[in-house]
Amino acid sequence: MNLTPKDMLAKLVSFNTESQRSNLDLIHWCRDYLASHGVESTIVPSPDGIKANLYATIGPKVAGGVVLSGHTDVVPVAGQDWTSDPWTLTERDGKLYGRGACDMKGFDAIALALVPEMLKAPLKRPVHIALSYDEEVGCFGARVMIDAMVKAGLQPSSVIVGEPSMMQVVTGHKGGTRMKTTVRGHAVHSSRVDIGVPAVMIAGQLIAWHTQVMDENKARTQSNSFEPPYTTLHVGVVQGGTAVNITAEHCSFSHEVRAIPGESGDTYVERYRARIAELEAGMKAIAPESGITLEITSFTPPLGPEKEGEAESLSRRLTGDNGSHVVAYGTEGGLFQAAGWSTVVCGPGDIAQAHQPDEFITVAQLEAGAKFVRGVIAELSR
Ligand SMILES: [Zn+2]
Repeated sequence: MNLTPKDMLAKLVSFNTESQRSNLDLIHWCRDYLASHGVESTIVPSPDGIKANLYATIGPKVAGGVVLSGHTDVVPVAGQDWTSDPWTLTERDGKLYGRGACDMKGFDAIALALVPEMLKAPLKRPVHIALSYDEEVGCFGARVMIDAMVKAGLQPSSVIVGEPSMMQVVTGHKGGTRMKTTVRGHAVHSSRVDIGVPAVMIAGQLIAWHTQVMDENKARTQSNSFEPPYTTLHVGVVQGGTAVNITAEHCSFSHEVRAIPGESGDTYVERYRARIAELEAGMKAIAPESGITLEITSFTPPLGPEKEGEAESLSRRLTGDNGSHVVAYGTEGGLFQAAGWSTVVCGPGDIAQAHQPDEFITVAQLEAGAKFVRGVIAELSR
């Protein structure tokens, strides 16, 4: 079966792969499609078996080669007002509408649709197609997939993460650590707050720590291309307490650190744990059952510019883009780079359309993406 990138995109969009759902129907379809071309896939399931990654190698099984990386999950459509069915790719005025058309089944579709061309080319080094699950909710799929790829002995020289960048070569993004803190207090009448442990007030001190550390970062920051140019900390959700005259027994909040390349989210987590330990000592002296629990809900490392990076020079040769670009959103790129593989983000479509109702990719961007992947095939055939 041969499909154009557009027809392939229509097929991929027809699978509802919102991150909270299974992506197995899509993955099995891709496996069967690749098998119909004689390409064997490796399926890397999620720990619960509900979802899976897929990677496949086309060309000689030798070192070098390029990974074309894309995620298969999409963000939910609930509550969004769509002009046409989000699961039916619909063309209007040179734009292809559908959930995931831009972020990022467009790139997945190009990689898959060009498999017959890869098979015909005299590839000297391989193309690896890598499709993950759960990118949108914390890059959980890519972690297990990259582990499996490393264990299988793959040694690509470049990884192209095809997230929408309007085919610009993106060499950096911040990392993200998401956390949840739960404070267990001790309830007494608030008139005797001296013998209670007020969870909300302790949470307040921990929240203030975020502001204080961010202010320090801002003060010592050197200019770089990120906006803002320093590591940010943020608390987005707080829940706690039952009445103004009871010291709160419970308070929890969700928070994150977005670290610039060169800084590590882990360092911030360590500092935060030290602050927790200080406060906990005082709490336990009053009520031994009180305490603070920190849960890391997801971690995605930053993508940092490489010195003479292979992926960067390849992408610049093929796109002619010599600008310096960093992006605000996180990708799986930092995980590939952490595995020791040269990585950039470069893909079709505009991130402004991602996650939106009436998400679209232009036909022109889909064609630009296909031209780029054809260039990769030509490079690997030299
Ligand atoms: Zn994406």
